[in-house]
Formats: sequence, C-alpha cells, structure tokens
Amino acid sequence: MIDESCVFCQIVAGTLPSEIVCRDEHFVAFRDIAPKASTHLLIVPRSHVCDLDQWVDEKGSSDSMLAFVRQVGRDLGVSGRYRLITNVGSAAGQVVFHLHWHMLAGDDLPGF
Ligand code: AMP
Repeated sequence: MIDESCVFCQIVAGTLPSEIVCRDEHFVAFRDIAPKASTHLLIVPRSHVCDLDQWVDEKGSSDSMLAFVRQVGRDLGVSGRYRLITNVGSAAGQVVFHLHWHMLAGDDLPGF
C-alpha cells in the first residue's frame, strides 16, 4: 500500500528526490536529509506501514527487514560499527509515520 501524502512513499516512488544507496524488491535505503553522523541512512519498506509495531503485527517478524539492514551495512562498508534506531510513536520522537530504521555510523557518532 502507498500513501501519496507520505514523504517516504514519495521517495520510494521516485517523485521526491533523495539519495538512494540500496534497494531491493521490498526495501529502500537512502540518506537522511539532516544527517546526525557522517553516515546516516534511513531504511524503509516500500509499502506504507506506520511503525515497527504495525510491521510486526502484519508480517509476524522483522527478520526480512533486518536482513536487508545487514546487507546495507555491508554495502556501505560499516558492518560491525553502526547504530540502529527506530522510533515508534511521537512520544519516542517519531516524526515521519512510515516505518524507518536510522542507520548511523562514523567517527562523529554522538553518544547515546
Ligand atoms: P523520525 O524522527 O524517526 O521520524 O525521523 C525522521 C527522519 O526523516 C529525520 O531524521 C529527518 O531528517 C528525515 N527526513 C525527513 N524528510 C526527509 C527527506 N525528504 N529525505 C530524507 N530524510 C528525510
């Protein structure tokens, strides 16, 4: 399903410009527009799902998405030295309500 008002659906569809770094049939990885580390990617499913809880409710697990995340880490050369975050709900800081993992890496990675 696609939500035409969703910025990440627009990026996946190619109607909103972005720097896509990896993609497959189900997932897309692109650079965050306001990076918080030298490598800051967003990894999203092509289908519009609002957050991780909804994804797991619908798919039963996040295994396939995390396998893609791992491959992105390999492709970007950050395997073994990245941070992965997903915000679920506005109280946790979620601003874009299309499931996304933040993949952060680099010598400038802020403390957590
Ligand atoms: P969150 O607070 O987890 O919902 O994170 C949303 C992220 O999306 C933020 O880090 C934003 O910088 C990023 N973002 C918003 N719009 C765009 C865009 N058009 N292209 C790339 N990243 C975006």
